[in-house]
Amino acid sequence: MTDTYKLVIGGQLVDAASEETFDSIDPSTGKAFAAVAKGSPEDARKAAEAARKAFDEGPWPKMKGRERAAALLKVADLVKQNAGPLAELEAKDAGHTIRMAKGADIGMVISTFRVFAEIAAKENDEEPLARNPGSMNYVRYEPVGVCVGITPWNFPIQMAAWKIAPAVAAGNTVVIKPATYTPLTTLEIGRLCLEAGIPEGVVNVVAGSGVAVGEELVGSPLVDKVAFTGSTEVGRRIMELASSNIKKCTLELGGKSASVVLDDVDLDYAVDGAMWGVFFHNGQVCSAGTRLLVQRPILDEFLAELTKRTEGIRVGPALDPASDEGPIVSETQLETVERYVGIGRDEGADVLTGGERAVVEGHEGGFYYRPTILGNVKSGMRVAQEEIFGPVLVVIPFEEEADAVAMANDSIYGLAGGVWSSDNGRAVKVAEQIRTGTVWINDYHMINPRYPFGGYKQSGIGREHGEMGFNEYRQVKHIHVDLGGPSRARHPWWDLTVPKRKEPSAPSPETPGSKPSG
Ligand code: NAD
Repeated sequence: MTDTYKLVIGGQLVDAASEETFDSIDPSTGKAFAAVAKGSPEDARKAAEAARKAFDEGPWPKMKGRERAAALLKVADLVKQNAGPLAELEAKDAGHTIRMAKGADIGMVISTFRVFAEIAAKENDEEPLARNPGSMNYVRYEPVGVCVGITPWNFPIQMAAWKIAPAVAAGNTVVIKPATYTPLTTLEIGRLCLEAGIPEGVVNVVAGSGVAVGEELVGSPLVDKVAFTGSTEVGRRIMELASSNIKKCTLELGGKSASVVLDDVDLDYAVDGAMWGVFFHNGQVCSAGTRLLVQRPILDEFLAELTKRTEGIRVGPALDPASDEGPIVSETQLETVERYVGIGRDEGADVLTGGERAVVEGHEGGFYYRPTILGNVKSGMRVAQEEIFGPVLVVIPFEEEADAVAMANDSIYGLAGGVWSSDNGRAVKVAEQIRTGTVWINDYHMINPRYPFGGYKQSGIGREHGEMGFNEYRQVKHIHVDLGGPSRARHPWWDLTVPKRKEPSAPSPETPGSKPSG
């Protein structure tokens, strides 16, 4: 008997309109363990209508920031109270090791809701503008409207929080479409939002395929904004569909980030750091440091130690607290990883360790792969340019810092990167030349909901997190209150009350910068 998870639409937990379900597979075993209501375009339309109604007629957009903040804090509390079951669900649905699910995922979800509660409570909805003679001017920040959040399979519960928290904190309503492989914890977060008292229709979750549910939502005239996290390829399609009614778009897309190791580094520290940068969650991380650029004088020693420690990583079932790495999310993604390692071999790379499936006793149906290091790689090879999204590191030596910067920037992507050095000044000089949205120095994956995160180049548009992320969910309205008497005094050339037109006089000197314009 499997559990059945329902959609969240208009404040209710509902079956799909078709009453169909699909299986959720546990990647640790390869077996179905839950059934999920299978959303269709009809369910997507119902969710968009519910979100539209809640935005146009409901109390949420009109509430004060501090009132919305109280509801967000309640969601954070409920996530905390349900931390154990949510972490286990993420481990089963998405293959997150239970250590990571408890230690990283749940904490990030709680802090995301808390940080956006704090921002919503303190942000002003109105701000005066510089004084202008003859008028009072100010900006008003208003919610954008109905926002659609589409999320990938790698960090389902975190991505749900990243999309829901800033959107609702700013007074919007949302429809979330989680990835088909990993919908369960997002449906649970949707349910907890209802339990926290967020009004009906403000948070909706529709599981289903990208083409059926995702395209219906992104193309919908009822929707004002799309926040998408996923591959660059699908990001392109999102932009096309969103152009139908000129929706605002934020896109968090793929990456092929470089970790640059300078020759003055503390080797012990940097080897661990490089492993953390790439093998955290099996490399299924958009910002993973999958290209390791090592300065030539320390290359051999660094690689020997890196290979030795990588061979000590324990691959096993997600729910086993002894597992350092769980399974890959799906059979299809496992095949993609295998295919890329084959491409690397064909291109002339050496497999220094890994390069094959891992066998986990008692879990033979699971999707396991050994952490893999490819040496003898050149920057132009496909394995050094294309996102693999698995536990595969390519290592490339460099001579001078300038060569490392050039190679780090030799990518269509620009999401993140790292620099490892004992000299912060030297590391900062390199970091400032890398064209990516984030660079970590002497650490990696330090994403914080207070600081902006997003990509340059084909890694995306816009930023998530912090006030910048919050403002992606707000419109800016300029209000001009005229204090200068009848408008004809300032626009004599447009004086309709005078029967006979006069010659235009010189523009009034008192109102610089306030000329009508189109
Ligand atoms: P994906 O692009 O295949 O799917 C992402 C989401 O889009 C899923 O919910 C999917 O169902 C949906 N989708 C697919 N086709 C669609 C369509 N035509 N219209 C609307 N929606 C559609 O990505 P994935 O395989 O789930 O995740 C891996 C990718 O996500 C990687 O490229 C990774 O780098 C990226 N990612 C980026 C970030 C970031 O913050 N930049 C974070 C996590 C993952």
